[in-house]
Amino acid sequence: MLISKTIFQHLLHCPKDIWLKIHKPELKGQFEMSEFELHLLEQGNEVESYARNLFPDGIEVSTTGEHAVEDTTRLMAEKMPTIFQATFIADGFIVRNDILKFNKESGLWDLYEVKGTNSMKLDQKERDHVTDVAFQVSVMRRARVPLGRCFLVHLNKEYVRAGDLDIHALFQITDITEEAQKRVEVLEPKMDAAKEYLNRETEPQGGCECVYKTRRNHCSSFGYSNSHIPDYSVHDISRIHSTKLERLVEQNIFSLDEVEPELHELSEKQANQVVAHQTQRPVIDESAIAVELEDLKFPLYFFDYEAYAPAIPAFNGYGPYKFIPFQFSVHILRSPDAELEHIEFLHGEFSDPSDAVAEKLKEIYNGGTVVVWHETFEKKFINENIAQRLPQHAEFIGRFNAAVFDLEKLFLAQHYIHPHFKGRTSIKKILPVLAPELSYADLEISDGGQASNEWWRMVGPMSSTAEKAEIAQNLRKYCGRDTYAMYAIWQHLVQLKK
Ligand code: SF4
Repeated sequence: MLISKTIFQHLLHCPKDIWLKIHKPELKGQFEMSEFELHLLEQGNEVESYARNLFPDGIEVSTTGEHAVEDTTRLMAEKMPTIFQATFIADGFIVRNDILKFNKESGLWDLYEVKGTNSMKLDQKERDHVTDVAFQVSVMRRARVPLGRCFLVHLNKEYVRAGDLDIHALFQITDITEEAQKRVEVLEPKMDAAKEYLNRETEPQGGCECVYKTRRNHCSSFGYSNSHIPDYSVHDISRIHSTKLERLVEQNIFSLDEVEPELHELSEKQANQVVAHQTQRPVIDESAIAVELEDLKFPLYFFDYEAYAPAIPAFNGYGPYKFIPFQFSVHILRSPDAELEHIEFLHGEFSDPSDAVAEKLKEIYNGGTVVVWHETFEKKFINENIAQRLPQHAEFIGRFNAAVFDLEKLFLAQHYIHPHFKGRTSIKKILPVLAPELSYADLEISDGGQASNEWWRMVGPMSSTAEKAEIAQNLRKYCGRDTYAMYAIWQHLVQLKK
């Protein structure tokens, strides 16, 4: 087996996980990439293809494995000015360079590593971009490549598109030769150890150190390596400090049933979560909820955006990874006894929807409370950016933002604790408990990441008219469910005090 840069980076993160992924293909189903991970991969490929425009004289090695090595050797012998995907194999390692450029002055080949990040990510951590480059340097040295300087090509977070994409302003190129060379010294012993570890035929014992980390740090194989730990365990205690978690694990306490909040020095909120689980009873502070809801002024607008954040800015006024607000849904309740109204907006073409969004909102909104879930997204990532791009809407957006009420905060404040929330406050966790008749299970699109990928596909050139219509319908159902869910949760909360 040849060890690539991706495999090695994965091993630095967790040897056990990558061993399982390589040697236990029967577990593949459990290890599938999420929509989000697939999206990151696609964005990385897109960034690389744009970065190639910086080197218009480049030629790609399109073969793989040993054939790619042969093609690379031939192209280098022909002194091709720039090679994309130059491939080298040595000592059980394989590298495919993003860009390899012949430097006429030095007579050496310069390496360019393309990254879809907004910064150089030279954070001195082992898994940063320098390691990516150092791994390549080590393998190319072993393959006796006359290697010159090493550069990182990454996105410039200050870039704002104005007219045609300015590739030279969009990307920044940084020389990291010295850092990479220093890193090679520490990396090489690890590369050799990785080779030994990954070539083991029998499953390495232990090695799942995440038992000391909280749930969000676990990979998809945690359950496989720790079948003795319940699905909902001490790792799910909200914001638990690593030292407290370590203490519990050291005492072999994994089940929440065995946790003693006082003895184990949990915070009040953590203790509430644990006690709700142990008693299997909700804890509801009706007065606190009533006080919070008193702030809401009719009409109530239950509101939600969907947005897509491409690495390469698609429209004027956007920088890398800025959100394009392509859709919103709003359920409006004009008075406590009024019929619920539903209005939606979906941008169906490949253009900036910001102006149409703001105009539509002006048409709909005329005072009252805008109820959202997790206000940072709506207020900061979408509305503030619209106001910045289109100052003519800034005053209205300011008023709209000032009217926002974040329904999630009632759950963050633990005015309502339910054992089935499992210490979480996302709408996807709260809704099935408070309004079990509503769920996302019957929908083709069931989360925001999927919705944004589908919109991008819908407005792209590859979708047929029928596909576009189907995606639009799925998007409408999904976003509409989100705002109806907020209405249903609000209604549930209002009923409590009656
Ligand atoms: S859960 Fe276990 S296998 Fe997965 S990353 Fe953590 S230590 Fe590795």
